[in-house]
Amino acid sequence: MPNINCFDVEISKNHRDIGNFLKATQGEFTDFFGIQAPMPSCFLIDSRKQFDEIWGKKTEDWQVAWVSDNNIFILKPEKFLEESSHNNQDNFWKILKHEYSHIYYRKLSGGINKPKWLNEGLAKYLAGQKAEEISLEDALDVTELHDDPGANKMIFPVGLFWVRFLLKNFGKDRMLHLIMGLKGNPSKKHFCDEFRKIYDFEFNKKELWNKIKGLTD
Ligand SMILES: [Zn+2]
Repeated sequence: MPNINCFDVEISKNHRDIGNFLKATQGEFTDFFGIQAPMPSCFLIDSRKQFDEIWGKKTEDWQVAWVSDNNIFILKPEKFLEESSHNNQDNFWKILKHEYSHIYYRKLSGGINKPKWLNEGLAKYLAGQKAEEISLEDALDVTELHDDPGANKMIFPVGLFWVRFLLKNFGKDRMLHLIMGLKGNPSKKHFCDEFRKIYDFEFNKKELWNKIKGLTD
């Protein structure tokens, strides 16, 4: 691994604001998830070039962070706008929060990050990231977004759409039970079984469509 600017946020002097932010986020997430995840280590990346070197291949301009175990890798705040397609510095903090949410998800699910739409949708929801408009037809493609072969950008808006829908109509506890019920099993079939048990309808296009019509008309 190249020489990256690595620090433990809890002892960081240069970026105390990041440590404080993660501490506050930890409190908020512990309250939401009902469990506590450790404080992450945060690796601040200096440039797109370094980002690609550590990631191992060329990344897109909008890709600015990722999480691995208890580590968050993110373009450093001073380079965030310069080295990405983001045009708002607030996005740095939202994305940091988004990445930390993945660490909580993984802990609650027993070590998995599937289904991708749920993990990404919940991260976007908790980070307060904006919702892109999507069509109902796109939303129903959620059934195809369990895995993520090749960074499909639709995972984010579609995931957020269903996270909001499920939270609004069925509450937080069911969603947490769904994630907990995954128990380290990443298969789509297991997810669909758990979903049916918890929400009392099938996770397929037809029933999702029926629910949307029934609950919004
Ligand atoms: Zn994410």
